[in-house]
Amino acid sequence: MTDFKIIMTPQNPTPQRVAAAFSLKELAPRKFATALREKNFVPFIEGVQRNWRNWLSTMKKAGYDALDSKKFGYARNCPPVLVSSAVDGAVGPNVRLVPCRLPACPFCHARSVMKVQKSLAAAISNFEECDIKFDSCDRAATSLLSCVESLDSLWDDQSTDVGSISKRVFWFEDDADDVSPPLAPSPTPTLLSYMGRLSCIQINPTWRAQLPYSRFYFAYDMKKESLNAEMGVIAKYIGITFSYPSRLLYLLGDTEALSFAHMLNMLHKNKQRFYRTTGVCRQNHTAVREDKAATWRENFSKQLDTILSELSDIKEVLQRYKGNNDGI
Ligand SMILES: [Zn+2]
Repeated sequence: MTDFKIIMTPQNPTPQRVAAAFSLKELAPRKFATALREKNFVPFIEGVQRNWRNWLSTMKKAGYDALDSKKFGYARNCPPVLVSSAVDGAVGPNVRLVPCRLPACPFCHARSVMKVQKSLAAAISNFEECDIKFDSCDRAATSLLSCVESLDSLWDDQSTDVGSISKRVFWFEDDADDVSPPLAPSPTPTLLSYMGRLSCIQINPTWRAQLPYSRFYFAYDMKKESLNAEMGVIAKYIGITFSYPSRLLYLLGDTEALSFAHMLNMLHKNKQRFYRTTGVCRQNHTAVREDKAATWRENFSKQLDTILSELSDIKEVLQRYKGNNDGI
């Protein structure tokens, strides 16, 4: 699959888009400020798309397994967020942009942040008032396993409450950046840090302490009567809490790319989960699913009713016809 020229046009802000926008801010803070001021995210997103496509080429070369298939093409053409996309010269439904769902994809990351916003908004609508805790921290470790374990244990402390949403992101930093570059690339360099970020939101937190080494912490007191007016503010906190670490997309060199590919292959092999919800946040999802199932059943039985009544009409007509014939 070749690269599509995706034509982007600005979109109006909604709470979901505000959350998505702030989650990508770290990628280009100055361009972000301009985009916010001018209410046009097209140049910002075009820049992110360029970086993402470069990243994919580098990572394919470095041996990131997920890119060994059609996925590479899909990922390069992953539908952007915060803009409306049209494919240049596309005729009819021949061209379909499909989210790539790669854990490092900034657009798919932003889409998952939109999902956080949706879950949280649905969950807090159940309360007349509630406390919302936004918390996010980074952990470094010398092995991927200990990095994963460290974030897991933090999540276990958090997830026992009424409603929690969490997301993990992993990346890699080469501690040798400041020193002279290594002579030959090696898939397992000795000086390295695996980095992980745990972001979480809790409704009515019973465990009030901040995460150790929080990079962002905020407690918000929500009252239902002002909820609609405050949705934009809450969305901004969601975005900052679930921010995409910019180091994920900016590879410093081939050595780092090799280590990065190794890390992502391991995460994929171990089927790591990156997004989790508990309590009232999860119940809401179930409710939505049940709603959908109910609608589907309703539609189905309506259609079935129509077919049955048509059949009985036909039967009646046939019987009448038969009756007429018998009379002759
Ligand atoms: Zn994607």
